[in-house]
Amino acid sequence: MQTKNSDLIVPFNKPSFLGSELEYITDAIRQGHISGDGSYTKKCTEFFEKEFSLPKCLLTTSCTDALEMAALLLNINPGDEILVPSFTFVSTVNAFILRGARPVFVDIRPDTLNIDESILRKKITSKTKAIIPVHYAGVGCEMDDILSIAKEHNIAVIEDNAHGLFGKYKGKNLGTFGALATQSFHETKNFTCGEGGALFINDSQYIARAEILRDKGTNRKQFYRGLVDKYTWVDIGSSFLPSDILSAFLYAQLEHATNVQEKRRQIWNFYFNALSEWSKHTNTNLPFVPPHCEQAYHMFYVITPSLEFRSTLMEHLQSKGIYSVFHYTPLHLSEMGKKLGGKLGSCPITEDISNRILRLPFFTSLSIEQTQLVVESLYSFKP
Ligand SMILES: *Cc1c(COP(=O)(O)O)cnc(C)c1O
Repeated sequence: MQTKNSDLIVPFNKPSFLGSELEYITDAIRQGHISGDGSYTKKCTEFFEKEFSLPKCLLTTSCTDALEMAALLLNINPGDEILVPSFTFVSTVNAFILRGARPVFVDIRPDTLNIDESILRKKITSKTKAIIPVHYAGVGCEMDDILSIAKEHNIAVIEDNAHGLFGKYKGKNLGTFGALATQSFHETKNFTCGEGGALFINDSQYIARAEILRDKGTNRKQFYRGLVDKYTWVDIGSSFLPSDILSAFLYAQLEHATNVQEKRRQIWNFYFNALSEWSKHTNTNLPFVPPHCEQAYHMFYVITPSLEFRSTLMEHLQSKGIYSVFHYTPLHLSEMGKKLGGKLGSCPITEDISNRILRLPFFTSLSIEQTQLVVESLYSFKP
Protein backbone atom coordinates (compact mmCIF):
# COMPACT_ATOMS: atom_id res chain seq x y z
CA MET A 1 0.00 0.00 0.00
CA GLN A 2 1.40 3.39 -0.99
CA THR A 3 0.61 6.45 1.07
CA LYS A 4 0.43 9.99 -0.19
CA ASN A 5 2.65 12.55 1.47
CA SER A 6 -0.34 14.02 3.26
CA ASP A 7 -1.11 10.64 4.86
CA LEU A 8 2.23 10.52 6.62
CA ILE A 9 1.99 9.89 10.32
CA VAL A 10 5.72 10.30 10.77
CA PRO A 11 7.49 12.58 8.29
CA PHE A 12 11.24 12.23 7.89
CA ASN A 13 11.95 15.80 8.95
CA LYS A 14 9.98 18.73 10.23
CA PRO A 15 11.58 22.08 11.10
CA SER A 16 10.95 23.09 14.69
CA PHE A 17 9.74 26.51 15.75
CA LEU A 18 10.92 27.20 19.23
CA GLY A 19 8.84 30.20 20.26
CA SER A 20 10.35 33.63 19.68
CA GLU A 21 11.09 33.46 15.94
CA LEU A 22 8.28 35.79 14.82
CA GLU A 23 8.76 38.14 17.74
CA TYR A 24 12.45 38.62 16.93
CA ILE A 25 11.75 39.04 13.22
CA THR A 26 9.21 41.73 14.06
CA ASP A 27 11.77 43.37 16.31
CA ALA A 28 14.41 43.31 13.56
CA ILE A 29 11.94 45.02 11.23
CA ARG A 30 11.04 47.56 13.91
CA GLN A 31 14.72 48.35 14.40
CA GLY A 32 14.83 49.29 10.72
CA HIS A 33 17.98 47.32 9.88
CA ILE A 34 17.10 44.19 7.93
CA SER A 35 20.15 43.88 5.67
CA GLY A 36 23.27 42.02 6.80
CA ASP A 37 25.20 42.52 10.03
CA GLY A 38 22.36 44.03 12.06
CA SER A 39 21.78 43.48 15.77
CA TYR A 40 20.55 39.85 15.52
CA THR A 41 23.48 38.85 13.32
CA LYS A 42 25.67 40.30 16.05
CA LYS A 43 23.81 38.33 18.74
CA CYS A 44 24.23 35.02 16.85
CA THR A 45 27.88 35.76 16.13
CA GLU A 46 28.59 36.54 19.77
CA PHE A 47 26.74 33.40 20.85
CA PHE A 48 29.03 31.19 18.75
CA GLU A 49 32.21 33.08 19.58
CA LYS A 50 31.49 32.79 23.30
CA GLU A 51 30.15 29.22 23.25
CA PHE A 52 33.09 27.82 21.28
CA SER A 53 35.79 30.41 22.18
CA LEU A 54 36.21 31.27 18.50
CA PRO A 55 38.61 33.97 17.35
CA LYS A 56 35.90 34.88 14.80
CA CYS A 57 32.52 33.72 13.52
CA LEU A 58 30.91 35.13 10.38
CA LEU A 59 27.31 34.27 9.55
CA THR A 60 26.69 33.34 5.91
CA THR A 61 23.63 32.59 3.81
CA SER A 62 24.44 28.84 3.79
CA CYS A 63 27.07 26.25 4.62
CA THR A 64 27.70 26.13 0.87
CA ASP A 65 28.63 29.83 0.96
CA ALA A 66 30.87 29.31 3.98
CA LEU A 67 32.65 26.52 2.07
CA GLU A 68 33.03 28.82 -0.95
CA MET A 69 34.54 31.45 1.33
CA ALA A 70 36.95 28.82 2.67
CA ALA A 71 38.06 27.94 -0.86
CA LEU A 72 38.64 31.64 -1.64
CA LEU A 73 40.54 32.18 1.62
CA LEU A 74 42.86 29.26 0.86
CA ASN A 75 43.57 30.73 -2.58
CA ILE A 76 42.62 27.46 -4.26
CA ASN A 77 43.81 27.61 -7.88
CA PRO A 78 43.14 25.43 -10.94
CA GLY A 79 45.00 22.14 -10.62
CA ASP A 80 45.15 22.16 -6.82
CA GLU A 81 43.91 18.98 -5.17
CA ILE A 82 41.67 18.56 -2.16
CA LEU A 83 41.06 15.37 -0.17
CA VAL A 84 37.35 14.84 0.46
CA PRO A 85 35.06 11.96 1.33
CA SER A 86 32.83 10.76 -1.51
CA PHE A 87 30.20 10.08 1.15
CA THR A 88 29.06 13.68 1.64
CA PHE A 89 26.84 16.44 0.31
CA VAL A 90 27.77 18.01 -3.05
CA SER A 91 28.67 21.39 -1.54
CA THR A 92 31.67 19.96 0.33
CA VAL A 93 33.24 19.43 -3.09
CA ASN A 94 31.52 21.98 -5.35
CA ALA A 95 32.88 24.95 -3.41
CA PHE A 96 36.45 23.92 -4.28
CA ILE A 97 35.71 22.81 -7.86
CA LEU A 98 34.39 26.31 -8.51
CA ARG A 99 37.97 27.51 -7.92
CA GLY A 100 39.32 24.85 -10.32
CA ALA A 101 40.40 22.28 -7.75
CA ARG A 102 40.50 18.57 -8.52
CA PRO A 103 38.75 16.47 -5.87
CA VAL A 104 40.56 13.36 -4.69
CA PHE A 105 37.87 11.15 -3.18
CA VAL A 106 38.81 9.29 -0.03
CA ASP A 107 36.90 6.27 1.27
CA ILE A 108 35.22 6.20 4.69
CA ARG A 109 35.72 4.09 7.81
CA PRO A 110 33.11 1.32 8.04
CA ASP A 111 32.35 2.14 11.70
CA THR A 112 31.78 5.92 11.92
CA LEU A 113 31.32 6.50 8.15
CA ASN A 114 33.85 9.33 8.46
CA ILE A 115 36.78 9.93 6.11
CA ASP A 116 39.34 7.13 6.63
CA GLU A 117 42.36 8.92 8.06
CA SER A 118 44.55 5.86 7.47
CA ILE A 119 44.47 6.33 3.69
CA LEU A 120 45.03 10.09 3.60
CA ARG A 121 48.86 9.90 3.39
CA LYS A 122 48.70 7.74 0.26
CA LYS A 123 46.54 10.33 -1.49
CA ILE A 124 48.72 13.37 -0.80
CA THR A 125 50.71 14.84 -3.70
CA SER A 126 52.67 18.06 -4.17
CA LYS A 127 49.40 19.64 -5.37
CA THR A 128 47.31 18.81 -2.29
CA LYS A 129 46.03 22.02 -0.67
CA ALA A 130 43.43 20.90 1.84
CA ILE A 131 41.72 18.04 3.65
CA ILE A 132 37.97 18.50 4.16
CA PRO A 133 36.74 16.15 6.91
CA VAL A 134 32.95 15.89 7.31
CA HIS A 135 31.80 14.87 10.80
CA TYR A 136 29.13 12.49 9.56
CA ALA A 137 25.99 12.41 11.73
CA GLY A 138 27.81 14.77 14.09
CA VAL A 139 30.33 12.14 15.21
CA GLY A 140 33.89 13.49 15.13
CA CYS A 141 36.44 12.39 12.53
CA GLU A 142 39.84 11.24 13.88
CA MET A 143 41.08 14.81 14.21
CA ASP A 144 44.38 14.00 15.98
CA ASP A 145 45.57 11.99 12.98
CA ILE A 146 44.08 14.33 10.40
CA LEU A 147 45.70 17.40 11.96
CA SER A 148 49.10 15.77 12.30
CA ILE A 149 49.06 14.51 8.68
CA ALA A 150 48.05 17.99 7.53
CA LYS A 151 50.82 19.59 9.56
CA GLU A 152 53.46 17.18 8.20
CA HIS A 153 52.55 18.20 4.65
CA ASN A 154 51.68 21.84 5.30
CA ILE A 155 48.06 21.34 4.17
CA ALA A 156 45.03 23.20 5.51
CA VAL A 157 42.15 21.43 7.28
CA ILE A 158 38.63 22.75 6.68
CA GLU A 159 35.93 21.03 8.73
CA ASP A 160 32.55 20.65 7.07
CA ASN A 161 30.69 20.70 10.38
CA ALA A 162 27.15 20.90 8.95
CA HIS A 163 26.11 17.94 11.13
CA GLY A 164 28.36 18.51 14.10
CA LEU A 165 27.39 21.69 15.99
CA PHE A 166 27.84 20.97 19.75
CA GLY A 167 29.54 17.64 19.08
CA LYS A 168 32.95 17.03 20.64
CA TYR A 169 36.09 15.03 19.86
CA LYS A 170 38.23 14.24 22.92
CA GLY A 171 36.40 16.95 24.85
CA LYS A 172 36.96 19.71 22.26
CA ASN A 173 34.12 21.10 20.16
CA LEU A 174 33.79 20.07 16.54
CA GLY A 175 34.27 23.13 14.36
CA THR A 176 37.27 24.34 16.39
CA PHE A 177 39.95 22.03 14.93
CA GLY A 178 40.43 23.19 11.33
CA ALA A 179 41.84 26.56 10.29
CA LEU A 180 38.25 27.10 9.14
CA ALA A 181 34.99 25.26 9.80
CA THR A 182 31.57 25.61 8.21
CA GLN A 183 28.09 25.31 9.72
CA SER A 184 24.65 24.91 8.18
CA PHE A 185 21.30 26.26 9.37
CA HIS A 186 19.33 24.64 6.59
CA GLU A 187 15.87 23.43 7.57
CA THR A 188 17.16 19.85 7.89
CA LYS A 189 19.81 20.70 10.51
CA ASN A 190 19.55 20.81 14.33
CA PHE A 191 19.21 24.61 14.32
CA THR A 192 17.74 26.47 11.39
CA CYS A 193 16.66 29.73 9.85
CA GLY A 194 15.46 28.07 6.64
CA GLU A 195 18.68 28.68 4.75
CA GLY A 196 21.75 29.85 6.62
CA GLY A 197 25.29 29.07 7.62
CA ALA A 198 28.42 30.25 9.37
CA LEU A 199 32.15 30.29 8.90
CA PHE A 200 34.13 29.60 12.07
CA ILE A 201 37.61 31.09 11.78
CA ASN A 202 40.05 29.37 14.11
CA ASP A 203 43.24 30.64 12.45
CA SER A 204 43.25 34.42 12.96
CA GLN A 205 45.32 35.12 9.85
CA TYR A 206 42.13 34.63 7.79
CA ILE A 207 39.87 37.06 9.68
CA ALA A 208 40.58 40.36 7.91
CA ARG A 209 40.31 38.93 4.40
CA ALA A 210 37.23 36.87 5.27
CA GLU A 211 35.36 40.04 6.28
CA ILE A 212 36.27 41.64 2.94
CA LEU A 213 35.37 38.60 0.78
CA ARG A 214 32.03 38.32 2.52
CA ASP A 215 31.16 41.96 1.86
CA LYS A 216 31.62 42.15 -1.94
CA GLY A 217 35.37 42.65 -1.74
CA THR A 218 35.00 45.94 0.12
CA ASN A 219 36.53 47.12 3.37
CA ARG A 220 33.16 48.26 4.73
CA LYS A 221 33.74 46.59 8.11
CA GLN A 222 37.04 48.42 8.63
CA PHE A 223 35.30 51.65 7.61
CA TYR A 224 32.51 51.16 10.20
CA ARG A 225 35.14 50.50 12.85
CA GLY A 226 36.84 53.76 11.91
CA LEU A 227 40.01 52.00 10.82
CA VAL A 228 39.99 53.50 7.30
CA ASP A 229 38.46 56.82 6.27
CA LYS A 230 37.07 55.59 2.95
CA TYR A 231 35.09 52.47 2.14
CA THR A 232 36.27 51.04 -1.13
CA TRP A 233 36.80 47.97 -3.31
CA VAL A 234 39.97 46.20 -2.14
CA ASP A 235 39.78 42.51 -3.18
CA ILE A 236 37.61 39.95 -4.95
CA GLY A 237 34.45 39.03 -3.10
CA SER A 238 30.77 38.25 -3.15
CA SER A 239 27.70 38.74 -1.00
CA PHE A 240 27.78 36.02 1.62
CA LEU A 241 25.99 37.81 4.47
CA PRO A 242 22.47 36.91 5.56
CA SER A 243 19.64 39.37 6.14
CA ASP A 244 19.11 40.29 9.79
CA ILE A 245 15.57 38.82 9.44
CA LEU A 246 17.14 35.37 9.07
CA SER A 247 19.54 36.01 11.93
CA ALA A 248 16.58 36.99 14.12
CA PHE A 249 14.99 33.60 13.36
CA LEU A 250 18.26 31.82 14.06
CA TYR A 251 18.82 33.61 17.34
CA ALA A 252 15.39 32.48 18.56
CA GLN A 253 16.59 28.92 17.93
CA LEU A 254 20.03 29.29 19.49
CA GLU A 255 18.52 30.57 22.72
CA HIS A 256 17.10 27.07 23.18
CA ALA A 257 20.27 25.22 22.23
CA THR A 258 20.55 23.24 25.46
CA ASN A 259 16.93 22.05 25.37
CA VAL A 260 17.07 21.18 21.68
CA GLN A 261 20.20 19.08 22.10
CA GLU A 262 18.76 17.35 25.17
CA LYS A 263 15.52 16.54 23.34
CA ARG A 264 17.46 15.10 20.38
CA ARG A 265 19.67 13.10 22.73
CA GLN A 266 16.58 11.50 24.28
CA ILE A 267 15.10 10.58 20.89
CA TRP A 268 18.41 9.16 19.71
CA ASN A 269 18.87 7.09 22.88
CA PHE A 270 15.30 5.82 22.68
CA TYR A 271 15.85 4.54 19.14
CA PHE A 272 19.23 3.08 20.02
CA ASN A 273 18.03 1.15 23.09
CA ALA A 274 14.72 0.08 21.60
CA LEU A 275 16.38 -1.22 18.43
CA SER A 276 19.27 -3.15 19.92
CA GLU A 277 17.35 -6.49 19.91
CA TRP A 278 15.94 -5.81 16.47
CA SER A 279 19.37 -5.10 15.05
CA LYS A 280 20.69 -8.45 16.31
CA HIS A 281 17.77 -10.43 14.84
CA THR A 282 17.95 -8.70 11.49
CA ASN A 283 21.73 -8.47 11.20
CA THR A 284 21.45 -4.70 10.97
CA ASN A 285 24.03 -2.30 12.37
CA LEU A 286 23.18 0.66 14.56
CA PRO A 287 25.34 3.82 14.60
CA PHE A 288 28.76 3.60 16.24
CA VAL A 289 29.99 6.45 18.41
CA PRO A 290 33.58 6.01 19.65
CA PRO A 291 33.94 6.55 23.40
CA HIS A 292 36.14 9.62 22.85
CA CYS A 293 33.42 11.32 20.79
CA GLU A 294 30.35 13.17 22.04
CA GLN A 295 27.99 13.21 19.10
CA ALA A 296 25.79 16.14 18.03
CA TYR A 297 22.57 14.07 17.71
CA HIS A 298 22.00 15.12 14.14
CA MET A 299 20.49 11.91 12.74
CA PHE A 300 19.64 8.29 13.41
CA TYR A 301 20.48 5.67 10.82
CA VAL A 302 20.58 1.89 10.51
CA ILE A 303 22.78 -0.13 8.16
CA THR A 304 20.76 -2.97 6.74
CA PRO A 305 22.25 -6.28 5.51
CA SER A 306 21.48 -5.62 1.83
CA LEU A 307 20.09 -3.17 -0.70
CA GLU A 308 17.05 -5.41 -1.15
CA PHE A 309 16.43 -5.50 2.59
CA ARG A 310 16.57 -1.70 2.68
CA SER A 311 14.17 -1.26 -0.25
CA THR A 312 11.54 -3.58 1.20
CA LEU A 313 11.97 -2.04 4.65
CA MET A 314 11.42 1.45 3.24
CA GLU A 315 8.23 0.25 1.54
CA HIS A 316 7.06 -1.42 4.73
CA LEU A 317 7.61 1.78 6.72
CA GLN A 318 5.89 3.86 4.06
CA SER A 319 2.86 1.54 4.23
CA LYS A 320 2.63 2.50 7.92
CA GLY A 321 2.86 6.22 7.09
CA ILE A 322 6.52 6.50 8.06
CA TYR A 323 8.96 8.21 5.77
CA SER A 324 12.59 7.06 5.86
CA VAL A 325 15.34 8.04 3.44
CA PHE A 326 18.68 6.75 2.25
CA HIS A 327 21.63 9.07 2.27
CA TYR A 328 24.52 10.21 0.14
CA THR A 329 24.85 8.33 -3.08
CA PRO A 330 28.62 8.28 -3.66
CA LEU A 331 29.77 11.53 -5.26
CA HIS A 332 32.52 9.80 -7.26
CA LEU A 333 29.86 7.74 -9.10
CA SER A 334 27.48 10.64 -9.80
CA GLU A 335 27.25 12.11 -13.30
CA MET A 336 29.55 14.97 -12.27
CA GLY A 337 31.82 12.69 -10.24
CA LYS A 338 32.42 10.48 -13.27
CA LYS A 339 33.32 13.52 -15.37
CA LEU A 340 35.91 14.28 -12.70
CA GLY A 341 37.39 10.80 -13.09
CA GLY A 342 35.42 8.86 -10.45
CA LYS A 343 35.61 5.07 -10.93
CA LEU A 344 33.47 2.23 -9.59
CA GLY A 345 35.46 0.32 -6.99
CA SER A 346 37.66 3.26 -5.96
CA CYS A 347 35.82 3.82 -2.64
CA PRO A 348 34.46 0.34 -1.79
CA ILE A 349 33.16 1.09 1.72
CA THR A 350 31.33 4.21 0.51
CA GLU A 351 29.78 2.25 -2.36
CA ASP A 352 28.67 -0.55 -0.04
CA ILE A 353 27.33 1.62 2.81
CA SER A 354 25.40 3.95 0.54
CA ASN A 355 23.41 0.94 -0.71
CA ARG A 356 22.50 -0.18 2.79
CA ILE A 357 22.10 2.91 4.98
CA LEU A 358 18.62 4.04 5.98
CA ARG A 359 17.86 7.20 7.98
CA LEU A 360 14.87 7.04 10.30
CA PRO A 361 12.62 10.04 11.05
CA PHE A 362 14.59 12.31 13.34
CA PHE A 363 13.75 15.87 14.33
CA THR A 364 13.47 17.86 17.53
CA SER A 365 9.67 17.77 17.84
CA LEU A 366 9.35 14.03 17.12
CA SER A 367 6.98 12.70 19.77
CA ILE A 368 7.37 9.60 21.92
CA GLU A 369 4.31 8.09 20.19
CA GLN A 370 5.88 8.66 16.80
CA THR A 371 9.21 7.11 17.81
CA GLN A 372 7.34 4.15 19.31
CA LEU A 373 5.44 3.70 16.06
CA VAL A 374 8.68 3.68 14.09
CA VAL A 375 10.19 1.10 16.43
CA GLU A 376 7.07 -1.13 16.35
CA SER A 377 7.01 -0.92 12.58
CA LEU A 378 10.62 -2.05 12.38
CA TYR A 379 9.87 -5.03 14.66
CA SER A 380 6.83 -5.99 12.55
CA PHE A 381 8.91 -6.04 9.34
CA LYS A 382 9.41 -9.49 7.82
CA PRO A 383 12.38 -9.32 5.45
C1 LIG B 1 23.55 20.37 4.71
C2 LIG B 1 24.98 20.16 4.33
C3 LIG B 1 25.71 21.10 3.58
C4 LIG B 1 25.09 22.27 2.92
O1 LIG B 1 24.46 23.12 3.75
P1 LIG B 1 23.65 24.39 3.17
O2 LIG B 1 23.51 25.26 4.36
O3 LIG B 1 22.36 23.85 2.65
O4 LIG B 1 24.48 25.00 2.10
C5 LIG B 1 27.06 20.89 3.39
N1 LIG B 1 27.67 19.80 3.88
C6 LIG B 1 27.02 18.86 4.58
C7 LIG B 1 27.76 17.69 5.11
C8 LIG B 1 25.64 19.00 4.80
O5 LIG B 1 24.97 18.05 5.47
